[in-house]
Amino acid sequence: MNYSTLTELYEQITSTSKRLLKTKYLSDFIKKSPIEDLDILIRMVRGKVFADYEEEKLGISSKIILKVISLSTGMTAKEVEDEWKKTGDLGIVAENLVKTKKQVTLFSNDLTVNKVYDNIRRLPNIDGHGSVDTKIKIISELLTSAKPAEAKYIVRTVLEEMRVGIGDGLVRDAFLWTWFGNELNINFNEEKNVIDFTDEERLAYNKYSDNIQRAFDITNDFSKVGQLCVKGIEAVENVNLEIGNPIKVMLCPKVADVNEAFEKLGSPIQVEYKYDGFRVQIHKSKKGVVIFTRSLENVTIQFPEVKEYVEKNISGYEFIIDCEAVGFDEKTQKYMPFQHISQRIKRKHGIEELSKKLPVELNVFDLLYYEGESLIKKPLNKRVEKLESIITPIPKKIVLARKLITNDANEAQKFYNQALDDGEEGVIIKKVDSEYKPGKRVGGWVKLKPVMEALDVVITGAEWGEGKRSEWMTSFAIAIVDEFGEFLEIGKVGTGIKELEGQSDDVVTFDKLTELLKPLIIEENGKEVMVRPHIVIEVNYEEIQKSTTYSSGYALRFPRLIRLREDRNADGASTAEMVEEFYYGQK
Ligand code: AMP
Repeated sequence: MNYSTLTELYEQITSTSKRLLKTKYLSDFIKKSPIEDLDILIRMVRGKVFADYEEEKLGISSKIILKVISLSTGMTAKEVEDEWKKTGDLGIVAENLVKTKKQVTLFSNDLTVNKVYDNIRRLPNIDGHGSVDTKIKIISELLTSAKPAEAKYIVRTVLEEMRVGIGDGLVRDAFLWTWFGNELNINFNEEKNVIDFTDEERLAYNKYSDNIQRAFDITNDFSKVGQLCVKGIEAVENVNLEIGNPIKVMLCPKVADVNEAFEKLGSPIQVEYKYDGFRVQIHKSKKGVVIFTRSLENVTIQFPEVKEYVEKNISGYEFIIDCEAVGFDEKTQKYMPFQHISQRIKRKHGIEELSKKLPVELNVFDLLYYEGESLIKKPLNKRVEKLESIITPIPKKIVLARKLITNDANEAQKFYNQALDDGEEGVIIKKVDSEYKPGKRVGGWVKLKPVMEALDVVITGAEWGEGKRSEWMTSFAIAIVDEFGEFLEIGKVGTGIKELEGQSDDVVTFDKLTELLKPLIIEENGKEVMVRPHIVIEVNYEEIQKSTTYSSGYALRFPRLIRLREDRNADGASTAEMVEEFYYGQK
């Protein structure tokens, strides 16, 4: 496909705020796309050349892009910078300057989506001497053949700042319109901006939509889901897990107390310790053991001990388990909160050494696949029964999550208190016969913990400090994410961050945050900077208030940074829906 076709779609989608119209545009685009190319095309539509489960990160700075634009348009560095100051968006700078240049030169070859995709994907693997120049060359090659609007989106894709706003929900609905439009009687009235549905039709629409979402969550592959859609809704419903392909993990909303858990889940309930570690999904097959984080990143190399426990202590040739890995100090044998262990997730060197100093214990709580059979539609108690029969637990290596099955609220409360006394975060309570629902926050599991729910927020901006702090960014604009994948601000945080430099890896200092954010700057205006939404932090606060100051419509009162969430992507941040739920929950 020509890149200009994709560019037209970006322009169409940004031209309207009407969700149904956006869905129509995307669906029309999908109808033009060969199914086998859909995985790449939809990734590109969303501005992501890497799938969630791929490890590579682009990490191209604005400085590099300035050079690229200068090189490929023949403008001086100063001219490009001036244009950047004027517009505040390097994408638009590229568009404007390419336009100026193209008035005097001829268009060269047509760019294809594959060419853009391939070039950008090469970027993270270039390192060593001369790597910056090579990267500049690869991006410039694209810009030199780009038409003005194409240049804008190439730059934005490279900077991972699309400003188009195509979230999961929109993609899912566009799939639905494309393949089930007739079957579901989707008649979009563009003038009135509605679909005229009967109640029954709407129910069917929602059911199909859930099925498609589930297929995305299980396969994380848009081409595969497209192929299933062509076969019909039954094929989508019966989508298969594939060993080695990570599936989105099941999530849960919060409840206020044990009674609410019974109300939501029925009786009896399964109450489990909620460990303060990080989620890992582990696949074992003939090809070996692969470990994925909650954001589906492959971290097998970083956790050699976990690989060994899974090989030795679980019997079976092929399986997928869901677990929480909890770190402890090798010397004191004491469990450590997540922030101490998070350094292991990103570690590239000295892995063996660190795994000895800060080993993890694997708490296994679910079995999703065993010897060729998917278990996710089976009830939880059956899955756990099977899990218990194949695992040989050894404390401080691999254990089963502690649990209690009960229909007595007092018993459940006692178990919860015990978990807190043991230093755990709280409990996860599960419906004993629930299916495993990938990626879902509702249906089958809830969590119970004592404190105001912390939020995972994305840093979207910052302010340089004053006086002796002028080398640091000291106040950070924070945002949550809405259903379209847009970031909505919810406040500013400046507390909970340490001043001292040279602290250990897990302490967050102003210096460290500044270093992380500098390459992400997209716009500077006096002391204020805007940064690409990339860094996720966990914050506490006293209360959520309604607010007209921030684009989310809410503000956090006294937000305080707790830790960096290096295991989360920006689009895995807390959602607008959660914030609304917490807002009403706190009353
Ligand atoms: P939260 O991160 O507060 O939304 O809580 C949900 C997270 O708790 C899950 O994503 C897991 O990483 C973690 N967790 C800890 N223990 C368990 C357990 N027994 N069952 C399921 N999730 C658990």
